Amino acid sequence: TRVETRVYDSEPRVGVEDQDRDPTGGAELEFWNVPDLDPALAVVRERAARMRDGSAPPAEPAPLVPVTSTAAADAVVARAVEVGATWAAVPPGARGAALRRAAELLEERRDAIAQTAVAEAGKTVAEIDPEISEAIDLARWYAGSAERLDPDHEDADPDAVHRPWGVTLVTPPWNFPVAIPLGSALASLAAGSPALLKPSHLTPLSAAMAAGAVRDALAERGHAPDVLQVLDVAGSGEADVGSHLVRHPDVARVLLTGSLATARLFARMRPGLDVLAETSGKNAMIVTPSADVDLAVADTVRSAFGHAGQKCSAASLLVLVGSAGTDDRLRSQLADAVTSLAVGPATDAGTVMGPLTPVADGDLLRALTTLEPGESWLVEPRRLDDAGRAWTPGVRYDVRPGSWFARTEAFGPVLGVVRVPTLDDAIAVVNSVDLGLTSGLHSLDDDEIDRWTERVEAGNLYVNRHTTGAIVRRQPFGGWKASVVGPGAKAGGPHYVAQIGTWADAPDVP
Ligand code: GLU
Repeated sequence: TRVETRVYDSEPRVGVEDQDRDPTGGAELEFWNVPDLDPALAVVRERAARMRDGSAPPAEPAPLVPVTSTAAADAVVARAVEVGATWAAVPPGARGAALRRAAELLEERRDAIAQTAVAEAGKTVAEIDPEISEAIDLARWYAGSAERLDPDHEDADPDAVHRPWGVTLVTPPWNFPVAIPLGSALASLAAGSPALLKPSHLTPLSAAMAAGAVRDALAERGHAPDVLQVLDVAGSGEADVGSHLVRHPDVARVLLTGSLATARLFARMRPGLDVLAETSGKNAMIVTPSADVDLAVADTVRSAFGHAGQKCSAASLLVLVGSAGTDDRLRSQLADAVTSLAVGPATDAGTVMGPLTPVADGDLLRALTTLEPGESWLVEPRRLDDAGRAWTPGVRYDVRPGSWFARTEAFGPVLGVVRVPTLDDAIAVVNSVDLGLTSGLHSLDDDEIDRWTERVEAGNLYVNRHTTGAIVRRQPFGGWKASVVGPGAKAGGPHYVAQIGTWADAPDVP
């Protein structure tokens, strides 16, 4: 499936002059894009201080509904079906209004939500703050999507009928503990379908805090808050209860963001189930000899080590083309930049790389500790704690195309450098992997940019920009090849909500 692959370059940046073209009016997007980092860092410092001194405002989390048996799972599904029938009959414009109110409440509760996610996920203030902005952007963007479903809307398709599908099960990951659970749930609500949100067992409180704002907004607007239920399936029988939910005949659709293995597991559990999934990535930044080295190194480091590399969108390979691979300045700049990354507690405003959310094990532990034949450490990672959550970042040098690290998503703070003779070789390295989520190119040569754009196989392509931090509407997010399951409309893009409902030609009315 290849839907909506787009190329994003570093221009145009969102500037003051075009903020009113953005879904949020620029209020949130501004933070992401300020070319001068100082104002953004001031916001981060202020938030970190408020979190430390406890002056962040309180917020009500959504209740976590215990679901420890299949009978309890049946009960939450039944409740979703019950309130969902009423919600499906709410005019799309009114659904949009509730989502807009949710965006306001999320903004009011930003500090409290951030505080929870920092403590629970070890996400730094600098990473969680824009993530909450993304959740707010998604609320407003999907509100707009709902409003456009209204037959009276000026952009509505007069020949289409939109029918909500029924209960959506949302199964998000732990790495974006606010924006992904909330974004998926809000898309379902916008489509007129109730959502059962089963957060990752590592980050249930962050999801509950954010979902609390949505439920309160629904209640304020006279809707049943239970159209969004947050499930606590942790504890005994999680696997049984989880598979019972996936198999439940009244669950119409699953929105999964997680590993490819989980998507395959769901498909085996219930053949024919409608799963829309954004899965794994093994993403590369290619740097050609024409690139601006300073920018290429800065963008690579940001792409590889933001949130300690725990992003599907993270760059885990740096592919150096031709003389870029023998450029001593590039090599030493990369080593210096990675070695000097500020590693520390997530609450410290100066921290660039906080702890891992889960303890490093499996493929990540292997990537952090064991080299393959021919490789050497440009920067060797070090473990800083007994538990195995705090690591310094690492760079493997001379990773061979086709080797274990070149093919495996490590999902942590390790970057592998591959050196190849030509851009075509570099593209072949990227395309040799089944996955295709994000891809980056640093080049100042138009012909190279065109060649790469035409051939590289990934959902989100970024030219002369980092590969993480997709912005709602501007950079709808989603993959290609094995990185996507389902039709592939991208999150935060124009078709995502319509993809959750169904469209049918309007019947002829005599
Ligand atoms: N949308 C996020 C980004 O652009 C990545 C989401 C993920 O890691 O699942 O960085």
